[in-house]
Amino acid sequence: MKKADVVIVGGSAAGIEAGVSARKQYKLDKVIVIRKESKVLVPCGIPYIIGTLGSVEKNVMPDTLLGDAELMIDEVTSINREAKTVSTAAGESIGYEKLVLATGSRPVVPPIPGMELDNVFTVRKDIAYLQKLQDALKQARDVVIVGGGFIGAEFADECRKLGLKVTVVELLEHCLLLNCDDDVCARIEDALREVGVEVKTGCRVTAITGDKKVEYVECDKGRFKADVVILAIGVAPNNELAADAGLTIGERRGIMVDQYMRTSDPDIFAVGDCAEKFCFFTRKPIATRLASVAAREARIAAANLFELRRSNEGTIGVFGTMIANTAIGVAGLTERAASQADYDIVVGRAAAADKHPGSMPGAREMRVRLVFELRSEKVIGGEACCSITAGEVSNIMASAIANGMTAEKLASSPMGTHPMLTASPLAYQIIKAAADADLKLKEQALLERKEAIRGAREMKPILVVDDETVLRESLRDWLNHAGYQVEAVADGEEALKAIQEQDFGVAILDLRLPGGKNGIEVLREARARAPKLQGIIITAYPSWEAAVESMKLGAVDYLSKPFSPERLEELVERALVPVEAKA
Ligand SMILES: Cc1cc2nc3c(=O)[nH]c(=O)nc-3n(C[C@H](O)[C@H](O)[C@H](O)COP(=O)(O)OP(=O)(O)OC[C@H]3O[C@@H](n4cnc5c(N)ncnc54)[C@H](O)[C@@H]3O)c2cc1C
Repeated sequence: MKKADVVIVGGSAAGIEAGVSARKQYKLDKVIVIRKESKVLVPCGIPYIIGTLGSVEKNVMPDTLLGDAELMIDEVTSINREAKTVSTAAGESIGYEKLVLATGSRPVVPPIPGMELDNVFTVRKDIAYLQKLQDALKQARDVVIVGGGFIGAEFADECRKLGLKVTVVELLEHCLLLNCDDDVCARIEDALREVGVEVKTGCRVTAITGDKKVEYVECDKGRFKADVVILAIGVAPNNELAADAGLTIGERRGIMVDQYMRTSDPDIFAVGDCAEKFCFFTRKPIATRLASVAAREARIAAANLFELRRSNEGTIGVFGTMIANTAIGVAGLTERAASQADYDIVVGRAAAADKHPGSMPGAREMRVRLVFELRSEKVIGGEACCSITAGEVSNIMASAIANGMTAEKLASSPMGTHPMLTASPLAYQIIKAAADADLKLKEQALLERKEAIRGAREMKPILVVDDETVLRESLRDWLNHAGYQVEAVADGEEALKAIQEQDFGVAILDLRLPGGKNGIEVLREARARAPKLQGIIITAYPSWEAAVESMKLGAVDYLSKPFSPERLEELVERALVPVEAKA
């Protein structure tokens, strides 16, 4: 029987990155990556096979990316958790110390009549299938794309490059509505229309019709002629292998993981599209399945394989695309999403040419919008449109969001500029948008609104629940010193009584408490009484059950011992933002 320090199931974005990072993190002798297909595609490059690249072969991911990890072409059919082995379709049994599931996702197939007709395709990451799609497109004149998200829009743009008549049918009132604010959605729709793509929004597909081969896509707003239909309406995680092995599956059907990417078995991790994701802002499960997220999770899991080194504080969606010559980049919450999540926001805007002077050949205007949370003044989202640099700009925004940068900090950040590469130093869009927001944040009306919120916060004390007197009193002192009102109690019963009597903003609870109930159980009961109460759990080393349970309760994070006043304040600040968002 073969045996490896780490076995990885799946060898695309997540699996490859997990394999490479695992070897580097722990200098392991043997890492085996098992993958069904002999070759995999660069998943994000799939739409470009159609027109820009012109062939499936040009979009194959090089296996050299795997470095010294061993690649086995086979399918893992089961996991024996007791024996710590996986079995494969070819009859092999492979032992593991740690197992990483990176089994990815597959396209959602909607229950629309006519899905079985010839020339109806979903977007599978499968070389032979995509070759068939390309062959079908060579014979086609009319193409209907169902789904106007990033992938649908990219397929539409690529199909029109072949000279095909393309119609995009989108259920929502705008393309890309789940990821962008209305004006950016409209800009992408305009870009599609400008190159001849017909865009039908607010349009529900009811059936696909034809005689053996597709002829029409029937919608509630009419019918569209189609020689080929491509459905791009989302993906479902490949969770079956994990579910059959008895691992817990999450609300969004991903393999349930904690913030260290551990599954319900401490020796098994899950990363990428197959793993459940949690929103960085709300801690709620979300369906943001991206290669960039997959690679990040793989690096976090690899770091935590043999000891806990890195924590995933949640998923920040960072998207980009380019339709014809119009590029966009989005990071974190849009204005709409922030308002829907009840954040009180301030928006900064700036626009300037992406080269300087603006008369440089090829210069294009780039608009940037940054969304800040009013009380903390931290950036929580941003959008950039329409220059080609928008993708990189959204990555800067993502970094600023993850690091909790305020408008003032961002406005005074160092940035480099060059005439051929960027806006002028006097007009650099991110800096100017942050400065715009910073000025607004300092305007009298907003200052008053902020004061009102701060007042509300000050009226809401923090509850500390810990039976260790020294720790409890240190926490009280630190928090008092930082300007918070604090009530400190020693056990769960006292805590629940206090919560009945007072409206607390945040409860900081030791996981181990005397008197039967642990910190998480107390938090669960407390939240039943006070649903807006945020929790922070103190523990030396969170078990998977504790990590997941507290995440489900919306607990902000762990205060792992030993801890510092800075970490404590950071967590309290982070917990307070959602509490105060509605104030
Ligand atoms: C058309 C398209 C465009 C996209 N564009 C972007 C983009 O621009 N930016 C971005 O960030 N994301 C993009 N995405 C999303 C991105 O492709 C996915 O998030 C990414 O592929 C996830 O990687 P993964 O390794 O988790 O899963 P997958 O890519 O799904 O790979 C899983 C692998 O595991 C293998 N496997 C599964 N089960 C087994 C088993 N039992 N035994 C052995 N092997 C197994 C599969 O065969 C597959 O090779 C795009 C997706 C599509 C479809």
